[in-house]
Amino acid sequence: IKMGILMANSYDLIVIGGGPGGYAAAIKAAQLGMSVACIEKRVGKKGPALGGTCLNVGCIPSKALLDSSHKYTEAQHDFATHGIGVEKVSFDLVKMMDRKDKIVTQLTGGIEQLFKANGVTWLQGHGKLLAGKKVQVKDTDGNEKTYDAKNVILASGSEPIDIPVAPQDGTHIVSSTGALEFSEVPKRLGVIGAGIIGLELGSVWSRLGAQVTVIEAQEALLPMVDGQVRKEVQKLLKKQNLTIHLGAKVSKAKVDGDVVKVAYTDAKGEQTAEFDKLIVAVGRKVNTDNLFGEGLELTMAERGMVQVDESCRTSIDGVYAIGDLVRGPWLAHKATEEGIVAVEVIAGHKAAMNYDAIPSVIYIHPEVAWVGLTEEAAKENGYDVKTGSFSFAANGRALAANDSNGSVKVVSDVKTDRILGVHIVGPQASEIIMQAVIAIEFAASTEDLQLVCFGHPSLSESLHEAVLAVDNKAIHAAPKRKR
Ligand code: FAD
Ligand code: AMP
Repeated sequence: IKMGILMANSYDLIVIGGGPGGYAAAIKAAQLGMSVACIEKRVGKKGPALGGTCLNVGCIPSKALLDSSHKYTEAQHDFATHGIGVEKVSFDLVKMMDRKDKIVTQLTGGIEQLFKANGVTWLQGHGKLLAGKKVQVKDTDGNEKTYDAKNVILASGSEPIDIPVAPQDGTHIVSSTGALEFSEVPKRLGVIGAGIIGLELGSVWSRLGAQVTVIEAQEALLPMVDGQVRKEVQKLLKKQNLTIHLGAKVSKAKVDGDVVKVAYTDAKGEQTAEFDKLIVAVGRKVNTDNLFGEGLELTMAERGMVQVDESCRTSIDGVYAIGDLVRGPWLAHKATEEGIVAVEVIAGHKAAMNYDAIPSVIYIHPEVAWVGLTEEAAKENGYDVKTGSFSFAANGRALAANDSNGSVKVVSDVKTDRILGVHIVGPQASEIIMQAVIAIEFAASTEDLQLVCFGHPSLSESLHEAVLAVDNKAIHAAPKRKR
């Protein structure tokens, strides 16, 4: 027997799920000297794949298509403003999809390499937590093997919600996963749900020529976004030929030949619509199918989530849960940080995660990004707030780029001067927001950021001016009251 192919029967840590939560936890544990196995069952287009929802069917492929479709829109509508003429702008959807798939393969293959380099064992198959910190793995051939673990991290993530009123057939009615794979641009595209995923995917296909209608049950668009920013987003979306019906609940969707017939109810009563494709983007649910064996004393939380404390400990000693399986925003970077924290705790280190400094981004154009409290939430939490805003229309770099829609808003505490939240709609908001994340993480006061020398010309100067505007000190904006 060659030593190399001998598989261990026990590990210091077994991670179930190889997404951004699970794979990061596995690598971190290897760095700290633990013997680690990560169980992942996903089979991607090119075979078994690590990386989870995020790398395979989430963050990365959606951003690849958002970038491609944005470049196409720029070539069509923006180049002329710069004095650049292009004869006829066209795109090749097959090439666009190929590019996206290559990025996915490059990144998922990269995680596999990192596992090898760090000595993390990838157990391909379905993992199940059994009593006594045993973990069973069932491979694709149906072979079962049970391992002992000193510690277990549950990181099985989430999957799209399927609603009975709009049963998916995988061709005409699809989830976010199917919406990343259309082989041609649908003429008429319906999207149920105006959440982040619905708006991002709606934008992709709208830019490529689909006539997109988004049907959203709630009266308000993006309720988690700061009110002032939300209004601006709504205006900008309207200009982009995206029809959004708010207060409209889908009651039935069915495929009839090559057409999807949708019935929905809004303030005016019963409505109908017809589409060539329909994306169901009504949220996600935890992935806990066949994850737990008999006799586990695991406390569950609402919506099927696993109950955890602030360090991701479950009710079973030595068993942790992270990412989309637990409370908090269901975002890739939150999953990763929780994975790191859980492993640090296992190693006996002091570790904690600051849930007040997690950035959120919507990658439409212009991008929407925020961190911390909205003005409304700050007031509800009893803060006496002061706010400042600055528009990209007065930012030299944004004008130079012909990308000057949007603004930055800063929410601060009157009493302590601390920055409570920053809300951006504008060019590269996803990058600018990180400065606010660092500021909030370091408990910066408004004055701290006011005293920073920002490079000129840069989009980030809008953050500086917004911070100055909190105290009516912006240089490139008229004062709130005439002096
Ligand atoms: P997952 O990424 O879901 O990974 C869990 C893995 O576990 C899966 O691969 C699954 O196959 C595997 N698994 C499950 N059960 C078992 C089992 N019993 N045995 C073995 N393996 C199992 N987030 C962002 O932060 N930024 C974005 O831009 C963004 N865009 C998104 C776009 C789309 C279209 C979607 C769908 C999601 C997006 N998200 C984004 C959300 C992000 O993908 C998730 O928050 C993140 O992937 C959660 O990570 P996770 O590790 O908890 O779980
Ligand atoms: P999110 O959970 O952020 O991904 O957003 C999903 C959105 O879908 C929410 O805003 C829901 O209000 C919306 N939604 C859920 N069910 C329906 C339905 N039947 N018709 C229209 N919108 C829905």
